Amino acid sequence: MNFRYINCHTHIFNVKCAPDRFIGLPVARLLASNRTALGAVHGLMRVGEVLPFLKTGTRESIEKMRSFLKIGTNRSQEGVFELLRSNYSFGPISYVALTLNMDHMGAGKALIPFSTQLSQVADLKIIYKEDLIPFVSIDPRSGSPDQLLQLVQDCIEKKAFGGIKMYPPLGFYPFDPRLEKVYAYAQEYGIPILTHVSKGGIFYQGDHIPLDFLEPISFGGDRARWTSVEGVEGAVMDFSKNVRDTRRFLGKTWGKGRRNEEFKVHFSDPRNYHVVLKKFPRLKLCMAHFGGDESISEFIDQQKAGTPDPLNWHHIICEILRSYPQTYADVSYALWQPKVWPRMSECIDPPKGLQRDISDRILFGTDYYMTIQEESEVNLVNNFRKAIGNERFKKIAVDNARQYLEHRAPLISGTIH
Ligand SMILES: [Zn+2]
Repeated sequence: MNFRYINCHTHIFNVKCAPDRFIGLPVARLLASNRTALGAVHGLMRVGEVLPFLKTGTRESIEKMRSFLKIGTNRSQEGVFELLRSNYSFGPISYVALTLNMDHMGAGKALIPFSTQLSQVADLKIIYKEDLIPFVSIDPRSGSPDQLLQLVQDCIEKKAFGGIKMYPPLGFYPFDPRLEKVYAYAQEYGIPILTHVSKGGIFYQGDHIPLDFLEPISFGGDRARWTSVEGVEGAVMDFSKNVRDTRRFLGKTWGKGRRNEEFKVHFSDPRNYHVVLKKFPRLKLCMAHFGGDESISEFIDQQKAGTPDPLNWHHIICEILRSYPQTYADVSYALWQPKVWPRMSECIDPPKGLQRDISDRILFGTDYYMTIQEESEVNLVNNFRKAIGNERFKKIAVDNARQYLEHRAPLISGTIH
């Protein structure tokens, strides 16, 4: 790959790909089919409650929601991709477009199933070539382990996809034994995986709580155990002990979203990757959002006060990066928050002390267009780039990104790269 900037974290799926309860339809559907209705959003001051992935807001944030919905309700994924590209005046630049399988999150049906979302993106790859790097979303509930592997192989080797996307808070643990074959394949060929690690974002919306949510199963069909970053196993993971939490999950007294939102941290917990990496230590794994802006912000405060918290998610991810040389973190979404900029610079620079160097494993990404709720893509990128400086930006958007994306899997049909 020649000199290229890479935004390693974007989304181009539109409202048609999202299930009913994900976006609190019919509002967004109406907006999707009737563009004049978009203006009505101005009046929906409490829209955050209708659209759970939006924030409840003031007049200024309504304006941001409008921009967000304008993108999401675009007629096609190609339309969203074109809008994304229109924000960038520098280049050449490639965009990692993360597909998302939302078919199993218990939020109802989407207008188009995940398979269609995927085939549309495969078509776009043929048109946009190296400008578009799609990642295939994997959910262990979507097929047998062999079918999952088949899907990944098909996307990588025949459709020139660039990697694998995982979103555990939709209702699975990253050490799910059904993912074992995919991990083995990804590790063998150095295929990049990107997984969501922050306390924000969408989550499982189902009414039921499967037993394996409470008593997680790991590789080999054994009960999952809490494992240290060094790989030392401890107690069995068991979330059924807290009867109050379980009741709350199953009970009808709480809002559907809220009770599941509390449980989702079990799926997203970065310590789950201690289990995965113990078995697959050479897995090329990017922990998106670096723990999330809230965790980074708390980490900064704790560092200042001299009271580090070993359970802080940003801290846990830094430890993983220091222990496993093929692991990465991206700054996506978190980068909207000026408070985290100096900490990001610190991570991008080689360490001053004796700590192991993680500076070549930090990646640039924005999380377009989820971030439109906070800031326009142009401002987001320009402000961050200015804050960290051109040299650091080139390191995370060019050098580190290229290293992350390089893999050894064969491309069988033609050369559309
Ligand atoms: Zn994202």
